[in-house]
Amino acid sequence: MKWTTIGAWGVYPKAESATSCYLVEKDGFSVVIDMGSGALSRLQQYITVNEIDAIVISHFHHDHVADIGPFQYACLVNEQLGTLNGPVPIYAAADGDTDFDMLDHVATAGRGYDPNKPLHLGPFTFKFMKTKHPKTCYAMRVTDDETTVVYTADTAFFPELTGFTKDVDLLIAESSFYDGMDGSGPGHMTSTECGRIAEDAGVGKLWLTHLPHFGHLADLVSEAKTVYNGEVELAREGLCFNLRR
Ligand SMILES: [Zn+2]
Ligand SMILES: [Zn+2]
Repeated sequence: MKWTTIGAWGVYPKAESATSCYLVEKDGFSVVIDMGSGALSRLQQYITVNEIDAIVISHFHHDHVADIGPFQYACLVNEQLGTLNGPVPIYAAADGDTDFDMLDHVATAGRGYDPNKPLHLGPFTFKFMKTKHPKTCYAMRVTDDETTVVYTADTAFFPELTGFTKDVDLLIAESSFYDGMDGSGPGHMTSTECGRIAEDAGVGKLWLTHLPHFGHLADLVSEAKTVYNGEVELAREGLCFNLRR
């Protein structure tokens, strides 16, 4: 599995970058996880619109779905040009969120995933866990039976996240706040909470993502390292994980 960061900002993108978006590829099958603001532009440096086989959405906050609309327009144009191979499925939790309706368009089709069941997409299997966030949101555990990655999406810290993350090769954890701050109100984590999950779950590597627009980002890494003994990096566009066991 090749996992590439496309966007790693929380809330809004800085210039020439994007909010939450990841490209996951194997054997010619390509899934995009979250499609935040600026993501469609940055994605096209790595893949064409027509090569995207499916999209999986964690939740319906703008910094995770802002570019769904532009993606649907791109698919519409390509359908009219005759270059698109059928509607592109966009998966989100089938839990009654009225925002789900935005996923259906001329050349895209909303598909509900049951958060309590595995979702099989090409060579990948997704498992989900509901997070602690003001908008209903799901963390994802993605495996190709060789390597396994957990993406926390947006969440405050809660103990069950550690079990969900157990022994993964890579944890991509949202670090919206610095050590000593309290992210529980808006439903986000700190650097040290990310490090604590990584350490207790025994993960192979930690990426910090959903990055804040204040403070010194390098501090997030050093803070996470005070509790986690493994490798820690800030997620950034182009940061790639490609490990075969
Ligand atoms: Zn959110
Ligand atoms: Zn967010």
